[in-house]
Amino acid sequence: MLPIEEALGIILEKTPQLEAETLPLFDVTGRVLRRDAVSDMDLPPFDRARMDGFAFRSADTLGAVAGWPIRFRTAGEAAAGHAFTGELQPGEAVRIMTGAPVPAGADAVQKIEVIRELGEGLIEIEEPLRPGQFITPRGIEARQGDAMALAGAVITPAVSAVLASFGYASVCVSKSPRVALLSTGSELVEVDQKPGASQIRNSNTYSLSGYVARAGGLVVRSGIVSDDLDETKEAIMRSLQVADVVILSGGVSMGDYDLVKPALLELGAEILVEKVAMHPGKPTVFARIGEKVVFGLPGNPVSVAVSFHLFARPALLKMQQATEIHLPRARVIAARAIKGAPPRRSHQPAILTISEGRIEAEPLKWSGSSDLVAFMRAEALIVVPEDRERIETGEIVEIISIR
Ligand code: AMP
Ligand code: MG
Repeated sequence: MLPIEEALGIILEKTPQLEAETLPLFDVTGRVLRRDAVSDMDLPPFDRARMDGFAFRSADTLGAVAGWPIRFRTAGEAAAGHAFTGELQPGEAVRIMTGAPVPAGADAVQKIEVIRELGEGLIEIEEPLRPGQFITPRGIEARQGDAMALAGAVITPAVSAVLASFGYASVCVSKSPRVALLSTGSELVEVDQKPGASQIRNSNTYSLSGYVARAGGLVVRSGIVSDDLDETKEAIMRSLQVADVVILSGGVSMGDYDLVKPALLELGAEILVEKVAMHPGKPTVFARIGEKVVFGLPGNPVSVAVSFHLFARPALLKMQQATEIHLPRARVIAARAIKGAPPRRSHQPAILTISEGRIEAEPLKWSGSSDLVAFMRAEALIVVPEDRERIETGEIVEIISIR
């Protein structure tokens, strides 16, 4: 049994990295950036009004008080997309809209609500303006030439907006790993079928396809294969032809019909991981065939999820050269006592609650690693160290977020 860190180390070392490709900005959400994105201009590119109102020379407004207003003459208008072209002279103000460039000479904006309009272009104010008031100064958000997002960053929707602002109509990103999902088990039928006696529906393909997509992978469905050596070999071969990674579920335990390892060996695979000191998920398999990698995840739905998040997810992100490949972890309070599984490290599905300002992890009541219905609610995995029989209520525990 390999410790989790050791297994992960092998997996990451043996997982190949993918090439880059250049795609239109619309198609890169969720992809990993391959080059630093650099700003090609200051943002904002000009001193920008933050309010609808009037722009002033703040020095002209000193001494304005209620009852003793200062009067200004309107010299023109500045709207978003249409600057005021002149320079503001003493005693003048310019009507200005949110997003418009602040005119030359002006250094403060006052909102329309506190300005009295007298007609004939005359206005009055009854309080002085601070220099810079209601102005977003040029370059405060970004400076031309600065790196905005670094190679290795995942392109979130907010990163897309930044790329758009700096002219990245097309973006150099990592190719998406093509991931074939193959469910093994003679008891499995597809979702549109009614299971006979001793059969169940294949659910792992559906959880895994969502997990793979969230990790930036492209799912290839390889279907179900029964517990037959030749058929399993054939299905793995077929999957390898269309994918960079094959993720199998089921068939990796010690039963007479657990045929994934024998099939991989007969195909000439190098099995690099086959038992990990974890619960659930102990029989997790990782193998290489040529440049391609194969994960054999245990069949039980919760084991599939834990094993995927601990091993396959970081591998998929590593293939794309992502900087952050691990799920966020935190230390929180155990809301109830939790049983461990020495000598294996245990992962208990949990929901997170906030109680009196402190985050608590409440282990879900589950009947075991087949309990996909209970697992549906899980937001995190509570990590119970390999040397702990039990964690008591109120202890600080580590969690891994899986939302
Ligand atoms: P195995 O690892 O093949 O021994 O499977 C362990 C348990 O997981 C068995 O009860 C299987 O029926 C179940 N199982 C295996 N594959 C799937 C699947 N694709 N969807 C749902 N349950 C599965
Ligand atoms: Mg099976």
